[in-house]
This record gives sequence, C-alpha cells and structure tokens, in this order.
Amino acid sequence: MELSQEKVKHVKEWLDKHWTGDHNCPICKSNVWQIVGMVYEIARFTTEPTTAKTVFPIVNIVCQTCAYTMSFNALVIGVVEQQQKQEPVAVPQPHVAANTDARIEERQKQEPVAGGKP
Ligand SMILES: [Zn+2]
Repeated sequence: MELSQEKVKHVKEWLDKHWTGDHNCPICKSNVWQIVGMVYEIARFTTEPTTAKTVFPIVNIVCQTCAYTMSFNALVIGVVEQQQKQEPVAVPQPHVAANTDARIEERQKQEPVAGGKP
C-alpha cells in the first residue's frame, strides 16, 4: 500500500517524537535516513498447509549510505487503520478469499473459473 504525502509526514513526526538519542545507523554510523513511502507486510511463517496467513503491516526507513533498513509497525505508528489490518489478517477459513492483498482478491474474482459457466 502506498503512503500518501500526509502519511509520510505523519511517519516522520512519529519518528521525531519517538526516536530519542542519536540517529546514527548501527551499521555505518551515517545519519541520513529515508522513509519508504509504502506499507509492507510481514507474514507469519508456518509449515502448516493453509491458504490463510497472518500478517502485520510495517513501514521501513532506509539508511541512505549502507541500505540498512529498520521496520516499524504501521498500526502503532497510526498510518494503517485497525480495520485495514484485520482485513489481511486472515483466520483459517475454507474459502480462498483469505488473501492478504485486496488487489489479488479482485484479480481472482475476475479470472474465469476453470470448468465454469461458458
Ligand atoms: Zn548505514
């Protein structure tokens, strides 16, 4: 999910408020960071055979010198609504719609079902 300029600004303000101490990269000691204007998701690893997966949204900031990346929970920062979180966090259900990406769900709906109606 792309972050609007307003939400990128919110992330910056959140970091300014919560990131105390120096802002040096733990790898290269640079202090030039960039907020990535996207929300990514981290999925829970499982060996269970399931179409559902548990994910949580994250926002990344990247060191502009060495590319070290820090991740922050987008829900805690407040750039993803609780409702948006619950949608992708699928509980095991028999139908395939337990997908983590609404765009994928839309695409699946549009795809013809094999052996379906002519
Ligand atoms: Zn660095």
